[in-house]
Amino acid sequence: SQLYGINNWGNGYFRINKDGNVAVTPKGEKGPSVDLYELTQELQDRGIRIPIMIRFPDIIRERVHLLHACFQKAIADHSYKGSYRGVYPIKVNQQRHLVQELVKFGKEVHLGLECGSKPELLVVLSLMNTPDGVIICNGFKDAEYIETALLAKKIGREIIIVVDRKDELKLITDAAKKLSIKPKIGFRAKLNTQGAGKWVDSAGARSKFGLTAVEIVEGVEFLKKQDMLDCLELLHYHIGSQVPSIQSIKSSLKEAARFYTELHSLGAKLKYIDVGGGLGVDYDGTGWSDSSINYSEQEYANDVVSTLQTLCDEKGVPHPNIVTESGRALVAHHSVLIFNVMGVNNLFKQDPPAPATKQDPAIMQELQYIYEKLTPENINECFNDLMQSKSETLNLFTYGVLNLTQRAWCESMFFAIATKMLSTAQKTPDCEDIVASLRETLCDTYFCNFSVFQSVPDSWAVGQLFPVMPIHNLKNEPCHEATLADLTCDSDGKIEKFIDSESGEVKKTLRVHPFKEGDAPYYLGVFLTGAYQEILGDLHNLFGDTDAVHISLRDSGYTVDHYVPGDTVTEVLTYVQYGRAEMVDSVRQFTEESIANGNLTKQEAKALIKHYEEGLSGYTYLEEME
Ligand code: PLP
Repeated sequence: SQLYGINNWGNGYFRINKDGNVAVTPKGEKGPSVDLYELTQELQDRGIRIPIMIRFPDIIRERVHLLHACFQKAIADHSYKGSYRGVYPIKVNQQRHLVQELVKFGKEVHLGLECGSKPELLVVLSLMNTPDGVIICNGFKDAEYIETALLAKKIGREIIIVVDRKDELKLITDAAKKLSIKPKIGFRAKLNTQGAGKWVDSAGARSKFGLTAVEIVEGVEFLKKQDMLDCLELLHYHIGSQVPSIQSIKSSLKEAARFYTELHSLGAKLKYIDVGGGLGVDYDGTGWSDSSINYSEQEYANDVVSTLQTLCDEKGVPHPNIVTESGRALVAHHSVLIFNVMGVNNLFKQDPPAPATKQDPAIMQELQYIYEKLTPENINECFNDLMQSKSETLNLFTYGVLNLTQRAWCESMFFAIATKMLSTAQKTPDCEDIVASLRETLCDTYFCNFSVFQSVPDSWAVGQLFPVMPIHNLKNEPCHEATLADLTCDSDGKIEKFIDSESGEVKKTLRVHPFKEGDAPYYLGVFLTGAYQEILGDLHNLFGDTDAVHISLRDSGYTVDHYVPGDTVTEVLTYVQYGRAEMVDSVRQFTEESIANGNLTKQEAKALIKHYEEGLSGYTYLEEME
């Protein structure tokens, strides 16, 4: 089944099984499989709470091996002389278990790590023990950062310190002399070729990082004077994350390859070219939007290898070893956020209110008339009149012509007409626009137990599209349209961007099953959330990290490798300088005052303190009362 376009973005890792639930199949249809709906229930049986972030390390293993295999194939097919070294930039997701898994799965393929700050360097040094794995040091650096990196070279790590700003070069050479350690240096070039997509500002003359052509030439001169030109081993560039088009990738490669060959002719015998990140993920399966890509991992690898080969051969320069810093493409697929729907704001009013009479205001009589006279022949006119009646109702209420009961009648009638009109329009030719508009007008709001700001911040911050769908009940065609609202008291706390699996168009609403409070739990999943979302997530309204689990698949069944409990309320409050003990003490004192003046019994005080303390120890999301 192809509901929600799952085969377009699921990459074979997600599919709909015969029970009508989403199955996770890291090795494709024929490999082991776990039913996400059953898993969600079984995790809750163990006391793990909704919303849950479920991570599948098996998918990471597949991604690491896929990218490596693509480069190995491209190298073999082109008889390219250099080797391939993948590097995972930990900024994309620094969770300890995840990075440990990457290092473990990456051993065979010599996967290295990239750090973009001093704290990230310290993480990388504690986790990285892969022989031949490269460590790339990017980001702003001070002497402490550089000396730590140089000393770590002595414990056998292939550490390359990349000069991101021209002032860093002298810091590196000074530290190297002070410690008598020969550094491995990289230059990050500022390319003029722009990427495309949401993160284009990473390249271009005004980009934050990198050296201009002038600074690179000066850097080479400087190293020559220090007799250290042989330390310059790598050329790096990065044109931005999630590059949707292969054309941008190729153009930037050509410019970078020219930098590489020119550095050789200036006497720098570089060994590596580090093409940065940029390899995108297909979040919507369209092949043309900002959230999609128009190339495969293999095409990416082929283009990197063949472009470098052509330009190096032209100038008689040896083929460089290729480093990639793809992070998104390695980890985006591996995690899914699961949450439940708590309630619904349902606007589908089938029944009209009691009919308006001759004594009622004209607007009420007009609405009554539209309701009764609507036919396929006059649907366009009725639609326009209905839309106008909405603003008219509001004006009349504001000017005191309609009272509150009359306004309520008009609103009920508006939705009754819209409901009737939608079913008429669906059966009438050439009414697609009316259908689309009424679907949006009548869509429900599903209130969901999660925070957009904590769990899918890019959906809010940069309008990124993530695949969202129910994880069960998919044998039944979902027939309602809804937007999803989160728990925060913020009108931006919602998801209103979905891909229509039939048309490939982006829409404001998601097709869902009917739901009302008291029904059996209805679970939705946001997929492909493994890159950037966890670390960029924030504590808006004090909703903290969700519970997270790592699930490994067995030939039959699964194991829960790790459970990482989400934040308690107490933990979240410490980030804003509240101490549990003082808070409890303060509330206790208030209860004592109320006991003294007779407003509160001792039993009520005990119950209040019990609830208060349990609240502080509890989850920040909504829980069932025990
Ligand atoms: N390398 C550098 C220098 C970056 O700034 C980034 C992130 O933008 C990456 C690698 C990761 O790139 P991607 O998100 O395409 O995997």
